[in-house]
Amino acid sequence: MLCLGAADTGRELCHACHLELPWLGSQCRMCALPLPNDGQLCGQCQTSPPGFVRVVAPFRYAFPLDSLIPAFKYHRQYAFGRLMAELLVEALHDAYRDSPRPECLVPLPLHGRRQARRGFNQATELARPIARALELPLSTGVLRRVKATASQQGLPAAERHRNLQGAFRCVRAAPIEGRHVALVDDVVTTGASIRSATRTLLDAGAGQVSVWCIARTP
Ligand SMILES: [Zn+2]
Ligand SMILES: [Zn+2]
Repeated sequence: MLCLGAADTGRELCHACHLELPWLGSQCRMCALPLPNDGQLCGQCQTSPPGFVRVVAPFRYAFPLDSLIPAFKYHRQYAFGRLMAELLVEALHDAYRDSPRPECLVPLPLHGRRQARRGFNQATELARPIARALELPLSTGVLRRVKATASQQGLPAAERHRNLQGAFRCVRAAPIEGRHVALVDDVVTTGASIRSATRTLLDAGAGQVSVWCIARTP
């Protein structure tokens, strides 16, 4: 799918392209921020714990994901979405080898207007094949984004956090009550959205929240 060579890994990727993906190495054990040493907490998670148990992200947001993810998200290249979901499923099998995995998936919602403009929610499209592969329920009607925040791109972290306070509302708590929920998004940047959505899920009765995404921005 990337170099047009023969796919030889059981996915639509050749071995060389698979190896060269920007795999995320040592990282914060809560928010997956790339760090020089594994198993530590980043400064932000130390001073202000994020509320979620951990972020599972196989990749850094770097080449070629910084073109594949926008191609999927803005130009509906669904094949790239499927490929990334497959790679995330493989990472999830590794991540939960020794620990209990979440019991249901909740995609991070877009605000109604933005979703109407884009025509689909990339987080839901990613979560669908993952839920199928792991045989877990996908709950799309749980969270709603009630605040149309301006694009977060280019804003300093503090401002993103301020923008996102009260950005989500839980409109149906039954599927998540007492459950360990996996919140699914495509890319985690400052973590402001997932922190805000995690808070909303916990307030609505979720037992625990973990975050699953394709890539983490350094
Ligand atoms: Zn290749
Ligand atoms: Zn952290």
